[in-house]
Amino acid sequence: MRIRRPTVVVLSTLLAATLGTVTAPSTALGQPASALQTAVAEPNQVSGLTVTQADGYATLAWTPVEGATDYQIERTPVDAGNVATGPAVVVGVWRPNRQINNESPTFADAGFSPGDRFQWRVRARFDTTAQPYSTPVSGTTLSPWGDPNVPGESLRTQWETTKAAQYTSDVEEYAYTAEVDRLSERVRVVEIGRTVLNRPINMLVFGYPTPPTTAQAVAATSPLAINCNVHGNEPGDREACLVLARKLAFGKDAKTVDLLSHTTVLIVPTINGDGRAANTRGNSTGQDLNRDYSLIRQPETAAYVRMLRDYRPVAGYDGHEYGNSTAGDLPMLPPRHQNVAKQIFDESMDMIEGHMYVQGAKDGWWACPYGCEGGSGVGLSEETILRNTLGLKNTVNSLLELRSSGGQTRPDEGNSANNRRRKTYSAFWTFSQFLDYHRASLPAIKQARSEAIEFQASNTGRLVFRGSRPIPLHPAPHPGEAGPRDDLPEPEMILDNAPCAYKLTEEQYNGARTDGPGGVGATVAQRIAAHGWKVVKAADGYYVPLAQPERGLIPLLLDAQGAEEWVDGQRVYPTSTGRHNGPLSVSGFTCISGGTVNGPVTVRPGAVFIATGTTISGPVSATGAAGFFLANSTVRGPVQISGTTNAVSLVDNRISGPVALSVNNTGSDVPLLAGNAVSGPLSCSLNSPAPTNLGVPNQVNGPRAGQCAAL
Ligand SMILES: [Zn+2]
Repeated sequence: MRIRRPTVVVLSTLLAATLGTVTAPSTALGQPASALQTAVAEPNQVSGLTVTQADGYATLAWTPVEGATDYQIERTPVDAGNVATGPAVVVGVWRPNRQINNESPTFADAGFSPGDRFQWRVRARFDTTAQPYSTPVSGTTLSPWGDPNVPGESLRTQWETTKAAQYTSDVEEYAYTAEVDRLSERVRVVEIGRTVLNRPINMLVFGYPTPPTTAQAVAATSPLAINCNVHGNEPGDREACLVLARKLAFGKDAKTVDLLSHTTVLIVPTINGDGRAANTRGNSTGQDLNRDYSLIRQPETAAYVRMLRDYRPVAGYDGHEYGNSTAGDLPMLPPRHQNVAKQIFDESMDMIEGHMYVQGAKDGWWACPYGCEGGSGVGLSEETILRNTLGLKNTVNSLLELRSSGGQTRPDEGNSANNRRRKTYSAFWTFSQFLDYHRASLPAIKQARSEAIEFQASNTGRLVFRGSRPIPLHPAPHPGEAGPRDDLPEPEMILDNAPCAYKLTEEQYNGARTDGPGGVGATVAQRIAAHGWKVVKAADGYYVPLAQPERGLIPLLLDAQGAEEWVDGQRVYPTSTGRHNGPLSVSGFTCISGGTVNGPVTVRPGAVFIATGTTISGPVSATGAAGFFLANSTVRGPVQISGTTNAVSLVDNRISGPVALSVNNTGSDVPLLAGNAVSGPLSCSLNSPAPTNLGVPNQVNGPRAGQCAAL
């Protein structure tokens, strides 16, 4: 559909619906709130209350009362003289399972209209018996981010201007992002694809002073990516992304400038524009797109996966809402699929528990594992879910689920505007923390990613088609006391003996498919290309080796044992695992796994050579091969690869001689040279395209020349 500028809508009737619900007023209208305070502390009275303002929320902190069961947070609107202008309302209930350090209780009060002024009080309860309220603290909350008198900063979303009565429409989103793009040098808006109904899928690319101009240049900055809205009826995160976009585009604060000087931030506000416009979970075909990121049957998911291939974010967040009134504010979950490299799982867990839990306890937000509080059917191992797909692409990441209702701990959210503001600003907090985590932890993230790529390319260990890693529980009574279900793999979902490659027939590879919209889908060849896997065409079929960075994902789509596969590819097992004495001449297909070659290896024209965990006394030379893959291996001699026609990959090898890659003309396949230790010189010349290291540097003891000079 054509996207046009919107008609302006007047909202006075909708705004009337935003008045708050009222519970137990304890301050009469017009009475100075401060008159209620007592001069001398009463028994069990909360003391030390402080209120700190932030974007869309206020952090309350206080000194705990011995023996308290929980605390109630009361908020009263006041004028500049701290005279109440409305009823006092209990807006929050603090419980011990909110945060990991109970000795310093905090609560993020949110839901109010930013910029309004309030008085807060906190009281302890012993069981249900209320104790005296604290001395009140008053403050003016922060107005929506951005000076209304500064161009750019003054932009506001439809959601903001209607005070959360309306979500930002598609046309308003396009107009807003176009204005952000026009007014800020730091932003480039890229259309990464179109929805089934032809809505643009935009991505905002942020850098300082300007964003890198190509996807490849962005990838070199170890970017991070936020996917804001895949389920169209879960809009809270998307509004946070749009406000965050304004702050990143125009914020002059040192933290924003520092972040964007060191990396690139990628924000996709709405991958599912059709579903958002219709307020449906799925896209216009009814497909749940968060069950399609591996299969990429839909144009929306295919667009996102191609973006991942080209921009290569090292870390990600995926925004959702969760219809569970008893969960925490911010359920989160790492990629759990057991084929995800342990390094990626561990670093994702560290981001959640080491960063989000810790910062949440400071700022008053309740992060917890998704799937806690009776959610045993959610947060499992489907590789079709972006969280797991990203993990299988070696990206540190988490799901974010905004608790959709106020629940028992936020009793003022019967008012839908208050509820929407709490959700959106809790997402704003999470995404801002995600930026902080990335800035502080990038060396650890890159290390995890490098080790994960090397592990995957080594093609070692069993394959699991479905099944999750357990999420160890955080010590009670803190977040995690009721964690997500274990979801261990069933025996029929495990393959202990991993093949070397899958072989596809012409029909499997290039044949027409009927699993896309309207029965017209991209071919397996096109989907493999979207994921960025290497494929070698040989006389007898198309080989997809497992010695690749996405080794954990490949079998899930090409093996008959996969739970949701594309095709039943033929498992091709290693042709050699033992010792070979003397020269080895390779023609046709050869795969060595854990072998030893006592002699030189010569790969003949048109041959496919794959070796993992193998020791070769060398030299190794390949001239005109169809495909050459070497991973986790040792070569005691020089390696020369030239004239390869389909694919070249050398990952995590120790090579004692010189390494030379020349005149490899591999079409769309980018030769991969990553994580190798080379004792001789490394030179690359006349390869098309030029080799990459995917951010995993090689250690070279000697000069580097030509296209490999920076690898
Ligand atoms: Zn969702």
